[in-house]
Amino acid sequence: MAVPLIQQLRVGAYVVKQRIKGVKKYPLVLMLEPLFRCNLACPGCGKIDYPDDILNRRLSVDECIEAVEECGAPIVSIPGGEPLIHKEIKEIVDALIARKKFIYLCTNALLLEKKLHLFKPSPYLTFSIHLDGLEADHDRAVDRKGVFQIATRAIVKARDAGFRVNVNCTLFDGAQAEDVAAFFDYGMSLGVEGITVSPGYAYERAPDQTHFLSRQKTKQLFRNVFRLGKGRNWRFSQSTLFLDFLAGNQEYQCTPWGNPTRNVFGWQRPCYLLGEGYAPSYKALMAETDWESYGTGKYEKCAECMVHCGYEATAVMDTIAHPMKALKTFIKGPELDGPMAPEISLENQRPAEYIFESNVQKTLTQLHAEAEERARGRSDAA
Ligand code: SF4
Repeated sequence: MAVPLIQQLRVGAYVVKQRIKGVKKYPLVLMLEPLFRCNLACPGCGKIDYPDDILNRRLSVDECIEAVEECGAPIVSIPGGEPLIHKEIKEIVDALIARKKFIYLCTNALLLEKKLHLFKPSPYLTFSIHLDGLEADHDRAVDRKGVFQIATRAIVKARDAGFRVNVNCTLFDGAQAEDVAAFFDYGMSLGVEGITVSPGYAYERAPDQTHFLSRQKTKQLFRNVFRLGKGRNWRFSQSTLFLDFLAGNQEYQCTPWGNPTRNVFGWQRPCYLLGEGYAPSYKALMAETDWESYGTGKYEKCAECMVHCGYEATAVMDTIAHPMKALKTFIKGPELDGPMAPEISLENQRPAEYIFESNVQKTLTQLHAEAEERARGRSDAA
């Protein structure tokens, strides 16, 4: 099973507790981005297009702990940028393990072999390694030859050393079902615990805007892949109903507060994929975000989104509310031949707003003001 029993029980108990307490909006996974700097520049990435002053910023260990405690989610995903570049990543991970958080450390694995000695195997720690296909496909997706070889070598080393390892795979337009199936077989042969798979989100700042999947193409691709997967025992680290959603059988709206994001700007509104402003605290994020104005059919930038960080929380909540439906889908697998669930109409969605530049400018102004104040303090002390 891709997700260990202890994690399933702990997360299940957490969800039930929130429901008993009558909490309507609660987080499942905190996306903790301690930096945006990366050692790759993938064409499908919308996260690293910042000026150096911002790429050089880091969340401190204390800021990370504060975010984790304030938010309270049982799972913490640490993406980036590349988190292994952060000089205090060991301290961050140790502090979160001590708080019994289930950590997914998302990495392109270029530095993993060199840094493996910093960590100890733990049921709370999983290395979630970015691989977007077999060698040619992955090296093309990350725009550098040789990365696949380094990453797969690191997976084997980490598995041999007793670590939990997951593969995190993003699919883009043009992916062929046979290639994806061969890649999943290969992932299983590496002995990873599971695969997290999702269509790419069409980040407005991604250098390559032509290779993102539409919702229609996503659903057909997943039906074709799952058809090839029958009897091949792939393990996914995602809920059955999320996979069923990818195959076009669930008419879900996203749950953006299920995966709140804390990064060097603050608490990102509304989700990991969209930066539409920042809140100073988790409490302010929850209270002040107009959640109803986001989602497919409501906002142009959400039109084609089917990404796990928006919809996995919806699927988990649906699983708790309808366990028999989830069990039936688990046993039979997603429906692959019948009609798909109706698509959400885009007729009334509000147009996209473009505020990236003003966010960046605001942060740069603040950084320069802080630097000037530090310089003034130094000259006063001298
Ligand atoms: S649909 Fe939801 S998860 Fe996707 S970008 Fe919009 S708000 Fe975020």
